[in-house]
Amino acid sequence: MLDKCLSLIFFFCCVLAVPRSVNVGGLFDTDDTIRRTFESSVKRVTQERHKFPDAFLVANSNQVDTDPFNVSQIVCGMMEEGVAAIFGPHNRFTSEHVQSMCDTMEVPHIYGKWEHSQTRGKGINLFPNAETLSMIFDKIITDFEWKVFAILYEGTDSLFRTHRLLERWDTKSIGIFLYPLGTGPSYRKAMRQIKDDEIENILIDCSIDILEKVLRQAQQVGIMSEKNKIIVTSLDLQTIDLEPYQFSGVNFTGVRLIDPEKPLVASIVEMHKHEWNLNYPSQLRVEPALMYDAVQLFARAFNRLKYTIEVKSLPCNGSVSWEHGYSLNNFMRVTEMEGLTGLIKFDTAGFRSDFQLDVVRVTEKGLKNIGVWNSTSNVEWLFESHVNSTNAELSLQNKTFIILIAINPPYGMLKKSASTMSGNDRYEGFCIDIIQELSKMLGFNYTFEVQTDNQYGSKVEKTNKWTGMLGKIIAGEADLAITDLTITAQREEAVDFTMPFMNLGISILYRKPTKTPPSLFSFLSPFSAEVWWYLIGAYIFVSMVLFIIGRMCPAEWNNPYPCIEEPEELENQFTFKNSLWFTIGSIMQQGSEIAPIGLSTRMMAASWWFFCLIMVSSYTANLAAFLTVETVVSPFSNVEELAKKTTIKYGAKYKGSTFKFFEDSNYSTYKEMYQYMKENEADVLPPDNDIGLTKVLREDYAFLMESSSIEYIIERYCNVTQIGGLLDAKGYGIAMKKQSDYRHPLNTAVLKLQQSGMLTELKKKWWTQKHGGGTCREDGGQNQAEELDLDNVGGVFLVLSVGVAASFFYTVFELLWEVGCTSLRENVSFKEELMAELKFIVKCDNSSKPVRKRKGSSNRSGEDSTRGCTPPYGFIPTIRTSSSDDK
Ligand code: GLU
Repeated sequence: MLDKCLSLIFFFCCVLAVPRSVNVGGLFDTDDTIRRTFESSVKRVTQERHKFPDAFLVANSNQVDTDPFNVSQIVCGMMEEGVAAIFGPHNRFTSEHVQSMCDTMEVPHIYGKWEHSQTRGKGINLFPNAETLSMIFDKIITDFEWKVFAILYEGTDSLFRTHRLLERWDTKSIGIFLYPLGTGPSYRKAMRQIKDDEIENILIDCSIDILEKVLRQAQQVGIMSEKNKIIVTSLDLQTIDLEPYQFSGVNFTGVRLIDPEKPLVASIVEMHKHEWNLNYPSQLRVEPALMYDAVQLFARAFNRLKYTIEVKSLPCNGSVSWEHGYSLNNFMRVTEMEGLTGLIKFDTAGFRSDFQLDVVRVTEKGLKNIGVWNSTSNVEWLFESHVNSTNAELSLQNKTFIILIAINPPYGMLKKSASTMSGNDRYEGFCIDIIQELSKMLGFNYTFEVQTDNQYGSKVEKTNKWTGMLGKIIAGEADLAITDLTITAQREEAVDFTMPFMNLGISILYRKPTKTPPSLFSFLSPFSAEVWWYLIGAYIFVSMVLFIIGRMCPAEWNNPYPCIEEPEELENQFTFKNSLWFTIGSIMQQGSEIAPIGLSTRMMAASWWFFCLIMVSSYTANLAAFLTVETVVSPFSNVEELAKKTTIKYGAKYKGSTFKFFEDSNYSTYKEMYQYMKENEADVLPPDNDIGLTKVLREDYAFLMESSSIEYIIERYCNVTQIGGLLDAKGYGIAMKKQSDYRHPLNTAVLKLQQSGMLTELKKKWWTQKHGGGTCREDGGQNQAEELDLDNVGGVFLVLSVGVAASFFYTVFELLWEVGCTSLRENVSFKEELMAELKFIVKCDNSSKPVRKRKGSSNRSGEDSTRGCTPPYGFIPTIRTSSSDDK
């Protein structure tokens, strides 16, 4: 009995503890998933009693059509029954109708759908504000630097969604083209127009219901290829099958509100996946998710109203309103919660605020988050370059590139073979080898395509379009271009280049200089003018010094008549004339009859002979070189001189980077040269290097070309050479489409080739070894004879100077010694004797010297004034004493 009583008490307690059930109405039109998420959310609130003890919600779901009358009937029915809030419907018109009914009765109206209105009424819309969404696409396009793009749109709502982008339109810098998708089911017409207009950047704005079909058709039409960049505005992009686009190489970006990797999202979807008919969290669309969040938000707000809320019957024909509706609305606007669609929070205007959108990119591995945008800041890009490069490197594997080449030796050539060849085997050359090496490193395949007109690419100013190889790269007809393709600033604006694989500069190719006619004075060539002047100087100086030393040296005063034992006077052979004759005789290798006797004069003569020996030998040797080596003369030695030569034609490759260099230059000489080339375009601008070379060989024509190509030519054509240095410095690179994902891996690979010495090896192979390389090397190696200048023979002059100085000092010493001896012997003062001696020496016209008689001594004393200077033949002249008195 007691048991029964206790159970009864417990039962009543439980019944009394259960809060009153609260009806919430749901109106659903087309999308059944929204109804399901609504009901699941209500169920979940009732299940989470610990969280929402006061909200025992009961879902009152109703399917509605688009007829406002029918909808109002259903709403009236619900109101009469009593509802705490009405969720939905989705249709714009019926929703507005429901909103006005709810406003009248002050019943909260909650929904989650895109609305273009700039203000929010009393209803609560969980969908992000249209203006905010428009802003994010504007920011993405700014960061992507789209200058020209198409908007492929479904209806007028799309234009509201993208109105910020449309405001960017500017005739000069931003081109925006609108293409309506049309009514479907085929949207290809608009897409074909985009393709025909060659617009590569496309923003697609359409509902998720047709998005899959639109994308599929876009791919069929060919506007979802590697060259295209696509942005899809739908927040539900992630819910469709993106696999067909993952490997197409298209740069495909979108945004998402729901992050399927978030634990909250994953757990809720996992909980309801059967009810919602979903396999993965990423399949959850935004609107159903917003409905789920809307119920959760309502439950939280309801729970916050602590006092008991009575839901009351509100007949449509009455004038009663619900007193708690306004408070509930306010509570909902100030409640913050984390939902499936991120943070749910409203600003004062009633719009969702502080929510976050992920910018996603379709990659081979699926959708990758590449950026984050939250309402307060710009898009924060998450290591996009890293994402790109890793993907690009992966995507290079087994990828097949169309690579443009040009037939221009040695960069690209047709293989000569007896058997017929096909495909890539037909080509060989420096660039072909580089591609081969790169493909080995990066794992891509390739097909070469020859640019038959040899036009590498220049911009047509009128149409703003690019010609040649670069035109094809830009148009997406080829992936890469490699040849002697110069990296220039203008080209870099249109395409991307790898690091240069070869460095070079502009120079002149001209025929080899002609031989100079033999000169009348070519015998002077062995020595420079300076040496000749020094030589003359040395000759005069040495002759004079010899003359002076000769007079000073006592030994040079000799008895002219050996048979006369007591000569009246002594004679000196080094008269001024004889000195000159002695030195010239030595130079001419003929000698003279004059032979120095004194030690000092011999010292002097020896130095001079040594000097003559070296000088004459050098002269002879160098003269031989001058006579055997041909002296050549070029009509110009640099570009400035070429510009002045009116008789020589000159030009560069038509529309090549060299020609462009002259066109863009501000230097007056180059400007004039450009004018000349432009005026004589047909005659002086050959279409390729081969024709330029032929012109050099056949005409009086100088070809301005790149040093690397000149190097190749002069190895093989011995009649031509490079004249002057380089006018600039630049490099060749591999061209690819702007912002290509392959740039980074290709750059790295080119650098590796450079560092490993592979590029040097290849250059050696194709320049100096293959196809006649080195033919002209022997000729080119001929030495030019060079005149000897003072640097070469300065040492000989030094030896001569030392010899002259030594002999001079020795003579002075001899003289002083002799004067000393004489003064002692003659008993005169040293000074007196010295003065007398010097006076005689400086009397240069006198080559005979009277013999002095010793006072009071016999003539035959054997002591004479020449003692101390040993005559060479052991002959001691008999000195006749003479004095001034004798006269
Ligand atoms: N390398 C040049 C170019 O890329 C062609 C040769 C030249 O202009 O000298 O256009």
